Amino acid sequence: KTETDFELIGRPEVLPMYRPRLKFSHKGTYGHSVIIGGSYGKIGAVQLASNACLTVGSGLVTAFVPKCGYDALQTAVPEVMVLTGSRDKSISGIEIPFEPTAVGIGMGIGMDDDTVAAFSAFLKEMKKPMVIDADGLNILAKYPEMLEDVPEFSILTPHPKELERLVGKWKDDFEKLEKTKAFSTKHNAIVVIKGAHTITVYKGKGYVNTTGNPGMATAGSGDVLTGTITGLMSQGYLPLQAAIFGVYLHGLAGDVCASKNGYEAVKASGIVEHIGSAYMELL
Ligand code: AMP
Ligand code: MG
Repeated sequence: KTETDFELIGRPEVLPMYRPRLKFSHKGTYGHSVIIGGSYGKIGAVQLASNACLTVGSGLVTAFVPKCGYDALQTAVPEVMVLTGSRDKSISGIEIPFEPTAVGIGMGIGMDDDTVAAFSAFLKEMKKPMVIDADGLNILAKYPEMLEDVPEFSILTPHPKELERLVGKWKDDFEKLEKTKAFSTKHNAIVVIKGAHTITVYKGKGYVNTTGNPGMATAGSGDVLTGTITGLMSQGYLPLQAAIFGVYLHGLAGDVCASKNGYEAVKASGIVEHIGSAYMELL
């Protein structure tokens, strides 16, 4: 194995990626993100992702949820606009009446047949890279033919269980990485293997993150990551950069949060609240 298979991602590596805000800019400069997900009892996943997306700097954010999520979202995150599908408890059709700058999809979306059909149709329609997480990944694993429709350079953010469903079982970490590299190459996708040392894989290379802590092993922290990466893409970060920088920033926000609260009390919403402090650590 050559040294170039791996790169450790720390502060010196992310600083050149950071795209600070421009004085003469407006909200259109930073894009209009769409976060698609949620089902009855799992609207919080979309709240967290869309709030993270906004907090990381997306100019505008629209959430697309089933009808039951409308009040909750409008109340929890007033800055986020909300579109709903025609069903109450799950998504059965995805219509976005504008061209999104970036899309994050899958958190809490469930795997109903109608939801699967809606997701499949949306994949065929969307031509630009998107961030796919959680049940979006579980749907792809269950119906692998749908992988053909995933736009190139899309970012997939599996935790180990979701990864296993996508690439199959591995016997050790080496094989896990080899399988993920092969998957990334085959589908021209960026795969973020989440965990204590999150590794962003693109084709033959792995970028190993150095931020984050065990406090982040908590409900919803993955949803925050999806929103974070989507919000970076909407601001013009290229997909691989959005993934690497987003993973770093998300971990750093978790670290700042833990430094104030202790590991146990880190919550996903606390990670969102500390995204600003994480950015300030980069100044
Ligand atoms: P999910 O399982 O989808 O909620 O994603 C969990 C998120 O928390 C990912 O971004 C992980 O990298 C992060 N995370 C989970 N456990 C740890 C840990 N022990 N150390 C650092 N980050 C973690
Ligand atoms: Mg998750």
